[in-house]
Amino acid sequence: MHRTYKDLPSEPVAMQSTEDIITGTWRSIRPVVNEDKCIRCYMCWKYCPDMSIIVEKEGDYPTVDLDHCKGCGICSNECPRGAIKMQREVL
Ligand code: SF4
Ligand code: SF4
Repeated sequence: MHRTYKDLPSEPVAMQSTEDIITGTWRSIRPVVNEDKCIRCYMCWKYCPDMSIIVEKEGDYPTVDLDHCKGCGICSNECPRGAIKMQREVL
């Protein structure tokens, strides 16, 4: 017989809002924005699956919420100007 969602525990997998869970500790590489290359198109903000690219107001350069960024590299991959480089975390 195939397993269904009914076979999963009744509790949610995450017991807290992801806003409260510091997922940035999972990261082994971090995005670093080069403002000299950035054209503030905000494609990185649009694509980040964790809402970890922060733009306080239109016209600002993007910054990264390192408490929640998991280092997936999607922002770097999608940036049309190559303005985000992934750098290895120093442990
Ligand atoms: S996608 Fe690249 S160029 Fe566009 S805002 Fe983000 S860092 Fe800047
Ligand atoms: S590395 Fe991934 S999680 Fe971190 S800011 Fe970029 S897209 Fe978001």
